[in-house]
Amino acid sequence: MIKEARLTINLDSLAHNYNSLRSKINPETTLIAVVKANGYGNDGARIAQELSKLGVASFAVAYAIEGKILRKAGIEDSLMVFYPQLAQLEQIIESQLEPVLYNLEISKAFISLLKEKNIKNYPVHIKCNTGLNRIGFSLENLESFFKEVNSPLIDIKSIYSHLGFSENPKPCAFTKKQFDAFELIKSKVKELCPSHPKFHILNSSGVFNYPEHQLDAVRIGIALYGFANNPEWNKTLKPIAKLSSPICQIHFVKKGESVGYNQGWIATKESRIGIIPLGHADGIGRQYGNGVGKVNVLGQTVPIIGNVCMDLLMIDLTSVNCTVGTEAIIFDQNFTASDFTASANTISYEILTSLSPRIKRVYV
Ligand SMILES: *Cc1c(COP(=O)(O)O)cnc(C)c1O
Repeated sequence: MIKEARLTINLDSLAHNYNSLRSKINPETTLIAVVKANGYGNDGARIAQELSKLGVASFAVAYAIEGKILRKAGIEDSLMVFYPQLAQLEQIIESQLEPVLYNLEISKAFISLLKEKNIKNYPVHIKCNTGLNRIGFSLENLESFFKEVNSPLIDIKSIYSHLGFSENPKPCAFTKKQFDAFELIKSKVKELCPSHPKFHILNSSGVFNYPEHQLDAVRIGIALYGFANNPEWNKTLKPIAKLSSPICQIHFVKKGESVGYNQGWIATKESRIGIIPLGHADGIGRQYGNGVGKVNVLGQTVPIIGNVCMDLLMIDLTSVNCTVGTEAIIFDQNFTASDFTASANTISYEILTSLSPRIKRVYV
């Protein structure tokens, strides 16, 4: 019996996903494990330690603080930071992280910091924009970078881009344009960059959809945690996390009585209501309220009723024969985070990365 809400993380499933992905990837292609956002909610440090044991030697996070946490947890491997900010450059050097330079401004700032500290050959990566139009050098700025900014103080380990629609069925004109743009960048780089950086462009769904574009490395996040944004591809993976909680109170309401803030739900008949100690502060957003989200109790699917509160939510247990302490499953390997989030028109990524640190993580 469980006595509080918990996220149970199955390390065998993590190993299964890693091995399954590794078998799809060429032996000479590096798997960069993306453990940003606290390892997609599963505890970045613990996930990185486990993946390290399985043979991963390259990791990536979004911001410097996440890299610092991994270093404190003893991860000594190569650790790239996708989106370093100006105020984080000192931290990056202190923690021996590898920043991604994505425009001229951040590149100049980083190089002048290296100059100040008299550091040479610092490992960095370069991000190029090929159509996502989010972050990265344009081809034009990349040329200026190589002609005016590049310096022996940095060692460019890799040059990469990111797909905007990697899960879309082939053929996809948009993705093809991105691949073509990246080819152009590769030939430019070969002309302008004296070192021989590695090239990469695929994320999780990209590995499934475009295995012929694996190049030197792939950056895998969500697939390690069991999702690949397509029901067929998902079959080769196992969701590693289960979110469940005991029901901490059950009570009866009469016809016409309301439940929760703002009288969010009104009983149309005598009903049994269960309370679950998870709320929007835990990552279960208000959009799951009012019957949108459903949870599983003793094999039955029951709706979340009324408004999701900050620390608690309510479910309708009228049809379920259960007691205080019975486990309610928000998502698991059968009714997955992807299924749960689909009801609210969002994606597994969002709920996993929103799960509050106050939810206990348990590893099995
Ligand atoms: C988050 C991220 C990834 C990982 O994407 P998944 O879809 O989770 O595999 C890869 N590359 C970049 C630049 C990212 O920001």
